[in-house]
Amino acid sequence: MSSPTSSATKTMRGLVKSEPAPGLTYDPARQLPRGGQPGPGEVLIRVRKAGICGTDRHIWEWDEWAQGRIPIGIVTGHEFAGVIERLGPGVSHFKPGDRVSGEGHIVTGPDYNSRTGNEHIAREMEVIGIDRDGCFADYLLMPQENVWPLHDSIPDEVGAVMDPLGNAVHTVMEAGVSARSVLVTGVGTIGLMAVSVARAAGASRIFVVDIDEKRLELARRLGADEAFDGRGSREEMLKTIRAATRGEGVDVLLEMSGAEPAIDAGFEALRNGGTAALLGVPSKPTEFNLSKHVIFKGAKVLGIYGRRMFETWYQMEDLVLAGKVELDEIITHEIPLEDFARGFELMQSGDAIKVVMQVSD
Ligand SMILES: [Zn+2]
Repeated sequence: MSSPTSSATKTMRGLVKSEPAPGLTYDPARQLPRGGQPGPGEVLIRVRKAGICGTDRHIWEWDEWAQGRIPIGIVTGHEFAGVIERLGPGVSHFKPGDRVSGEGHIVTGPDYNSRTGNEHIAREMEVIGIDRDGCFADYLLMPQENVWPLHDSIPDEVGAVMDPLGNAVHTVMEAGVSARSVLVTGVGTIGLMAVSVARAAGASRIFVVDIDEKRLELARRLGADEAFDGRGSREEMLKTIRAATRGEGVDVLLEMSGAEPAIDAGFEALRNGGTAALLGVPSKPTEFNLSKHVIFKGAKVLGIYGRRMFETWYQMEDLVLAGKVELDEIITHEIPLEDFARGFELMQSGDAIKVVMQVSD
């Protein structure tokens, strides 16, 4: 394992989007960011574990979104846990050896939202692994403001999934689920996390729908009261949900799939005046019955992006420390960085829920 503390070492291993085509390139001799010298207020982090996200899969598959967004030549990845290796000038809150995770959205300029408590939707921001070098490499540079100290009793693999857990916590908290019935449409990594979080936050009844039997089974184990197979009868599902909610429908919809039929079914199941929090990202503009699902229903619709900086981080740390979110079964695979291709294949085949890569020791 190379160490930047020896002055001779200036290279590291990294997964690079090196050409405008599917896949990623393993570079065993990538230059360390800024030569391993963090600038003022920055820290150099040695990455220990990194999670593969759905976003990384878009970059891997080089879909339309990735083609329009990802600069060729960057190191990808944004979910990580690691150790502080070196401090830039003026860093006072951390020391070498501290275990950390970090918020990948780096605000780069003052604007309305970044100055009024909504940094997560700031207009000017760079995301690690998307706009600038990310964490699928031995080393990562980050401003100290974005670094989150990892509690001693939170293991690295959990630190490496704080990013998606933050999406789940943020969605559940924005919607407000206490003593309310909830439908989660789509139980991939974040949907499954949302089931745990909604349970912890006091949801009265949790329904989920997905098209993968394994995930439905896991959702039941994590606290879903009813898990519906989306390939089955929609009418049956709606009948069951309405029978359990005085004929009204659910109070809250947490949309985690981005899939048109699931969005439609989710709004169908929502009661009049209910709240829909939308996190799933449709891959293209979708057909949606606005008058039926939102206007005549008097529904509240919330777009959810990222996680609050840093209110969500405090909430998820508390939930993890209190043992309220069950992540063991969600992190299904841990593989070495060099096996990244297998990691992406496991995600594409649906065999994996969350894949975490071991980067360095
Ligand atoms: Zn992610």
